[in-house]
Amino acid sequence: MTEATRTLLEVTNLKKYFPIKKGLLSRTVGHVRAVDGVSFAVKQGEVLGLVGESGCGKTTTGRCVLRLIEPTEGSVKFDGQEIIGLPFSEMRRLRRQMQIIFQDPYSSLNPRLSVRRMLTEVLTVHGLANGAAARERVGDLLRLVGLSPSQADRYPHEFSGGQRQRLGIARALAVEPKLIIADEPVSALDVSIQAQIVNLLRDLQKEMSLTYLFIAHDLSVVEHISNRVAVMYLGKIVELAPSLDLYRSPRHPYTVSLLSAIPSHDVTHKKTRIVLKGDVPNPAKPPSGCRFHPRCFMAQPVCAVEEPPLREVAPGHCSACHFAEEVSSKTPAGV
Ligand code: SF4
Repeated sequence: MTEATRTLLEVTNLKKYFPIKKGLLSRTVGHVRAVDGVSFAVKQGEVLGLVGESGCGKTTTGRCVLRLIEPTEGSVKFDGQEIIGLPFSEMRRLRRQMQIIFQDPYSSLNPRLSVRRMLTEVLTVHGLANGAAARERVGDLLRLVGLSPSQADRYPHEFSGGQRQRLGIARALAVEPKLIIADEPVSALDVSIQAQIVNLLRDLQKEMSLTYLFIAHDLSVVEHISNRVAVMYLGKIVELAPSLDLYRSPRHPYTVSLLSAIPSHDVTHKKTRIVLKGDVPNPAKPPSGCRFHPRCFMAQPVCAVEEPPLREVAPGHCSACHFAEEVSSKTPAGV
């Protein structure tokens, strides 16, 4: 099997239920089903975008994959090895190969460490470089992310938001990981800076053949970086497809609604936006049948009763909708 076709990450039926405690005795009275049976695979060198509204479970999924949060159930295989249940010492060794870039770069950087110390510590703790070699590597890492080695003695607060995210990327790259989970890496940044960071991540991915699970709440952010995109709604994947197919011919009404919210660059074409009814339902009490049915513009009576499975509706294109084949004909004009 070539590097390009090798599965690096395989997630099967992943669940994370958070208990709801009440009363003096803190009795469990229910569960928030943040992630409720999610399965996907990411190949070596591939970028999988994971997209959905706040509270859909995408960030919890990313953290369960790294075991920053312990999953309730399911399997996570990294490079063929099951990591659920691995002892902490083994997990620490593996974490070098699985890095995360956080949404808020400032809170993830130690304000008391200069950039040089922060990166040198990472390199020495993992036994990758010491002394002069570490100094040289710090300079290389800063150049790699578009910063100057002359900035190495500054502290995180001396950098702008975009520069701090570059530092977060440099720190992740320092340990030469196989997989990077980018958890909403641009949502805390100004719109003008977002594209620069996404372009940097894309260029690094191509240059270094990195593998990303790229989490975002906006389909427009992952469009140009992802090979495939998975759309999550209320703890489940509702559509998973190669990027071009998903953007050109979505097969789930929720994806259609998310796409309609992306502003059009064509001034002659005014898009119709589908405004979703109400808020995301409570994940402790998800709606019966299809979880999207109270907000869906295509809902039929059967949708409130039967849960649609995620099924392949075109080669490599999966949708969890009873009427996936009719989505394009039922989509309102102008979307
Ligand atoms: Fe909408 Fe029904 Fe499809 Fe769910 S199964 S997305 S409610 S049409």
